[in-house]
Amino acid sequence: MQVQQTQEIACPTCEETLAVPVPDEDVELKARPYVAAFGDYTTVECSSEHTVWVYFC
Ligand SMILES: [Zn+2]
Repeated sequence: MQVQQTQEIACPTCEETLAVPVPDEDVELKARPYVAAFGDYTTVECSSEHTVWVYFC
């Protein structure tokens, strides 16, 4: 059984480190505090309830 890969990324608002599930360990993540109209992304929430949109590059 395959383990879900994660990468760490900092919340752009409070800089808390978040673990983000990624489809591929070589992918590069970019965090944005808002949604953009393109690209593959996922969302995570930090403990301060900031929603972080994470883009896979
Ligand atoms: Zn935050």
